[in-house]
Amino acid sequence: MPVADFATETCPECGGTGWAVHSDGGAGTAAPCGCRGEGAGPRLLAASGIPERYCGCTLDNFKIERPERAEQEQLFAAREQCWRYVESFLALDGRFGSSGLLFVGNPGVGKTHLAVAVLKELVTRYHVHGRFEDFTALIHRIQATFEPGTVDSKHAILRRVTDAELLVLDDLGAQKLSDWVTEILYLVINTRYNRKLPTIFTTNLRLEAPRDLDHVPVAAAEEPLAWRIPARLLSRLYEMATPVAIVSADFRRSYKMPRLA
Ligand code: ADP
Repeated sequence: MPVADFATETCPECGGTGWAVHSDGGAGTAAPCGCRGEGAGPRLLAASGIPERYCGCTLDNFKIERPERAEQEQLFAAREQCWRYVESFLALDGRFGSSGLLFVGNPGVGKTHLAVAVLKELVTRYHVHGRFEDFTALIHRIQATFEPGTVDSKHAILRRVTDAELLVLDDLGAQKLSDWVTEILYLVINTRYNRKLPTIFTTNLRLEAPRDLDHVPVAAAEEPLAWRIPARLLSRLYEMATPVAIVSADFRRSYKMPRLA
């Protein structure tokens, strides 16, 4: 059984993809990698890149205080959708699902919490090789590889993202994208689209502008995702992921603000 190098977060055998190719005299045969075996859950979780702040997030501790109230109904529906996603992720033929989720809602409503909770649940249940990436941090890490003396290469960073069995790409469209950043995003999304690998996205931006707002100048935070990423990418996103709208109050303001005693 290969020993995953969790300092660099990748298994030397499968490169973190969960599949190892064994030579057979021809193109090779892919089989589940040994690093997925018994006891792999905690190691895979530790290697998934989930930020410390979100390590404790689960679907069970996603609070919905008054599910019967109209304003909490959508929150309840979103959590239910997450449970259904988890339950149906492993198909009867033993393969993982290929579609993802796209959490849409204002900052602080719990999008990242739910995305991480789903990732953790799938890693724990099925030993899925999952990866969490904040999109802006990913871009900065890739930019840092251009500095002399950097150990990680752009290729290695991107491979962990494009090849992960399940990817959470957090905070899509957080800033306006330069051509270079758009190309990186295109590479990530298109590679995963072609390989039918599931991706869970989160974004603070609504997806499209209402028709009457089309091309009317609005504040940056009000811009829809459709104005931030090219149509060829948006179209793939729609095919890759089911939107989950979350309408709620900012949880950070309501519950997390430090209070003076
Ligand atoms: P978003 O990604 O929508 O900006 P987050 O998921 O980062 O929001 O949520 C902000 C903080 O509030 C996190 O610490 C998260 O765990 C917590 N949080 C948000 N909604 C809930 C909820 N319904 N129950 C428990 N914690 C929540």
